[in-house]
Amino acid sequence: MARVLLVEDDAAIRTALLRSLRDHGHVVAAVGSGMPALSAAVEQKPDVVLLDLGLPDLDGADVLSMLRGVSAVPVIVATARDDEASMVRLLDLGADDYVVKPFTAAQIDARIRAVLRRSGKTEDDPVIAVGGLRVDTRSYEVTLDGRPIELARKEFELLLALARRAGEVVTKRDLLGEVWQQAWGGSDRTVDVHLSWLRRKLGETAAAPRYLHSVRGVGVKLVAPHEGDAA
Ligand code: CA
Repeated sequence: MARVLLVEDDAAIRTALLRSLRDHGHVVAAVGSGMPALSAAVEQKPDVVLLDLGLPDLDGADVLSMLRGVSAVPVIVATARDDEASMVRLLDLGADDYVVKPFTAAQIDARIRAVLRRSGKTEDDPVIAVGGLRVDTRSYEVTLDGRPIELARKEFELLLALARRAGEVVTKRDLLGEVWQQAWGGSDRTVDVHLSWLRRKLGETAAAPRYLHSVRGVGVKLVAPHEGDAA
């Protein structure tokens, strides 16, 4: 499972890819043009970027070189241009791999796994542990102090997004982008509602937090509770 930033202007292709990448277990945020792709790559710190070359605002190759100026994130270029010269140029510009359209979800999933393996970003241990909380990124199982916690899909994705960045304040906008694919739009209320459900399942409240701490006006942070905090 990887956090994938999908950059594709064709809405039909974007929707289809979004769905199939999620079916392969990835957490996917999608944007339709180059400038939002650059800010999302910086703000959301995806594990891998899947970049379509034909974009409405910027040439994909320009997006790639600008991205390389600010981030070392692995980039897989998706292109209809299957000529060797342009591929060599893209790899020189810093692409990690490429796929030629049309491609299948299985192909892109294999490329994503290969790129992550090469960049050393595969999770050998699929379990993220924060205090007594264990989030299994492969089986989707969550336990708290050894007890299983039943979470709905979005609750799980929200918890996972926070657990991957445990100790950091994650903005609601980032969460809307990562969990709901609504980085540019969407309501903080969506995050708040799921957060309150998550808190209830973890047996805590906003007023007496243990793991989930809201930082007013900034976002949310997942941390291990301090010894002696009320359970
Ligand atoms: Ca395109």
